[in-house]
Amino acid sequence: MIGDHRKMNHDTIAAIATPPGTGGIGIIRMSGPEAETILNRIFRPHGTALPLENRKLTYGHIVEEGIVLDECMAVIMRAPGSYTREDVAELQTHGGMRVMNTVLEVCLKYGARLAGPGEFTKRAFLNGRIDLSRAEAVMGMISARGEQEYRDAVRQMEGGTADFIRKASDELYRLQAGLAACIDYPEEVSDEEGTNTLKPGLEHLIKSLEEAMDEKSARLIHDGLQVTLYGTPNAGKSSLLNALLGQDKAIVTDIPGTTRDTVEGEIMIDGIRVHFTDTAGLRETEDPIEKIGVERSEQAVRNADMTLLVLDGSRNMTDEERERIQTETDRCTVLINKSDMTQITEEEDVRKINPDIVCLTVSALDADTLKPLKERLKEQARVSDRMAISQPRHLDAVRRAITSLKSAGKTLETMTPDMASTDLQAAQAALAEITGDRADEKLLDRVFSTFCVGK
Ligand code: GDP
Repeated sequence: MIGDHRKMNHDTIAAIATPPGTGGIGIIRMSGPEAETILNRIFRPHGTALPLENRKLTYGHIVEEGIVLDECMAVIMRAPGSYTREDVAELQTHGGMRVMNTVLEVCLKYGARLAGPGEFTKRAFLNGRIDLSRAEAVMGMISARGEQEYRDAVRQMEGGTADFIRKASDELYRLQAGLAACIDYPEEVSDEEGTNTLKPGLEHLIKSLEEAMDEKSARLIHDGLQVTLYGTPNAGKSSLLNALLGQDKAIVTDIPGTTRDTVEGEIMIDGIRVHFTDTAGLRETEDPIEKIGVERSEQAVRNADMTLLVLDGSRNMTDEERERIQTETDRCTVLINKSDMTQITEEEDVRKINPDIVCLTVSALDADTLKPLKERLKEQARVSDRMAISQPRHLDAVRRAITSLKSAGKTLETMTPDMASTDLQAAQAALAEITGDRADEKLLDRVFSTFCVGK
């Protein structure tokens, strides 16, 4: 349980906080009781004396055994007014790996220990400055690729997730108190009365948890929209992919079967990454290499959020294409390509086979014809703005909480109230994992091992 971990850390950790490589400035960071002592040993301020003024950047030199190692800026942020709530010292050196490593080695020599991944943030959590969901948001912010992913991390960092979970947890505590009254004072509150008051509360809580976890939006934010282009060789899949990406990524030729393997590319639509996979043509083949390509195509079609079935509008549809159109669902959009040529296959022909399917006429040679397709992609990439839970770990915990709450609801209907109490406790425990109010060492290791060193 968390109580075991919420103790002051007695050692001082150090790490290079800036990314590996060469840059203008590099930051070496220390946190812990010895941070200031080590800083005072190696830093010689100019025009001022030690100790340094709290939270004030000061110019000076790093000196070790009389030898100047670098010219730098230094700052001390004394506990509790720091990121970790411990004494934190930062040295802004020149951003060369040799310089930064030398300064780090000197810090280690004077008693600091090399920090593990995410250890600064872990200390911020253990020392009660941020909850676990905010700690995760820090890493989410650093690793965000799409704008929506970044905005979601900011929302989480500002407490969006923690506030929602704490409110849900309070609501659950009230239900638990009601249930306890029912169990403790059976003469005053009958089972039936207790159940009747608890049921609407349970239903309300389940509904608000379900509404907060839009799994599709969460996946879109973190993985992007997965779109697969497929169809008969030579229909123009590669050309369309190039037109969508605005670059020549896929190989385009007029020999059928050229795109033997899948080709991938990404664009950004409304802050969501849209990931395209162009597949080898779907067709019968004896060529063993092409066979592997066809199998991969089928797999990419199965895994996609959205498929684009590309037809060559200057030709008649093949039997296989007709069959595909017949069996496709609303996950698929049919693209009748080569609209710049004489049209033999038209939207009407497709709708005759499957009236429900969305069908667009495009030309890979004319960007204007791709606008309706981009609008369709935009619709598919839309994320819910009501979502409070978006991290896979949080979604898993909320799912477990909902299962326990539903089980409590069923138990209330069929058995005595005290049986439901165990389920409510399980739901409360699952919610507490999100904020870290209840988290064991294994969970913390799992969360912080995904962090970078120095954060
Ligand atoms: P894939 O096998 O489906 O990937 O087809 P490609 O993209 O390699 O295209 C096959 C042939 O059709 C190439 O010669 C392309 O230049 C041509 N092509 C593709 N799209 C269009 C289009 O919209 N209009 C015209 N006129 N030709 C196209």
